[in-house]
Amino acid sequence: MEIGEKRDFGDLVREVIDKGKCALCGGCVATCRLLDHGYLSMDLEDERPVIKEGQQCPPDCGYCYYQCPRVQKPELKQGLEEMYEVVTRDDEIKAVCQDGGAVTSILAYALDESIVEGCIGVVLSDKDWKPEVRVVMDRASLLKTAGSKYTPAATLTGVADAILDYDLWSIALVGTPCQMSSYARMLEVGRDTHNAHNFSSHVRLRIGLFCMGSYNYEKLINEFLTARHGINIEEVTRMQISENVLHVYSGAEELLSTGISEIDAYKRDGCRVCEDFSAMFSDISVGNSGTPEGKSSVIVRTDFGKEVFEGALERGYIEAKPMDTSGIEQIHKLMKAKKESGIAEKERRKRKS
Ligand code: SF4
Ligand code: SF4
Ligand code: SF4
Repeated sequence: MEIGEKRDFGDLVREVIDKGKCALCGGCVATCRLLDHGYLSMDLEDERPVIKEGQQCPPDCGYCYYQCPRVQKPELKQGLEEMYEVVTRDDEIKAVCQDGGAVTSILAYALDESIVEGCIGVVLSDKDWKPEVRVVMDRASLLKTAGSKYTPAATLTGVADAILDYDLWSIALVGTPCQMSSYARMLEVGRDTHNAHNFSSHVRLRIGLFCMGSYNYEKLINEFLTARHGINIEEVTRMQISENVLHVYSGAEELLSTGISEIDAYKRDGCRVCEDFSAMFSDISVGNSGTPEGKSSVIVRTDFGKEVFEGALERGYIEAKPMDTSGIEQIHKLMKAKKESGIAEKERRKRKS
């Protein structure tokens, strides 16, 4: 696909959204030429980007189409791959974090040292566990973003919010591999071609999260947890997937522990074609595979990521040791498995169509 070809939102619907490939990253919404008019938005009930009813796109547009990482993948440049086992040294973060608290600690350091003015993250509503994208600028709000989320949030829309609503010039973006690749695509497409907003000078730090998939909110929360297992979602304080098991907690009490094969049917279609487990397009990638419980696995991928990671280490926000060989092997195994299953699913769909 060449940039010069005329495409529009209708093509995005036909080629990506209706084909079950949409990652729900929010990149198209954030880069819509008519963003200021709320033209394109994310319908979180239907889990798809939608255009304002009765509106027509300008004939020369198509910014959303060219930005989409499911239309064209960004080009991956060779970077670093330094792997560490990390734990926070901050008691306040330790009390709220999942695993080792590496993401929150690195972000706390970046905010304290004015490396960034704000961070884009996701919080879960206490009431119904619906994920909400937030721009956070202080420690108290940052702590609320700690912990894993397994239902989708269109995090890239936060980039637009940070710039247009908060007037921020340096932001940390935390997101899943698809969101990191969507941002990489924005950088590639660049301003004055098919990108209405100059994001490249705003997002300074990209922290990607390991991801094996995201689940349809209605099915996972309402059908599976509430209807099938009788769990009152208001009582849930933590959900965690580790070693292929979903754990649901209310404080210290474990409400449910079940193999993730039980929830496989609820995985979003767009996740089934996804090939990236470890967020290759990040400065720093973080997850819980490859390290013991209570620790974070960190992969430093760029020189800037290394600078920030080492700063957080020197200033005592985190402690780290190089990951052992078995941890590295486990992560490489998961990277390979996800790539292969994404490719296999694409081929399966091609054969079917
Ligand atoms: S970017 Fe352009 S083509 Fe896409 S939804 Fe917005 S106005 Fe329409
Ligand atoms: S993958 Fe992202 S950019 Fe593409 S249609 Fe879905 S939300 Fe929009
Ligand atoms: S599996 Fe892929 S598409 Fe789905 S949330 Fe994770 S990174 Fe995004």
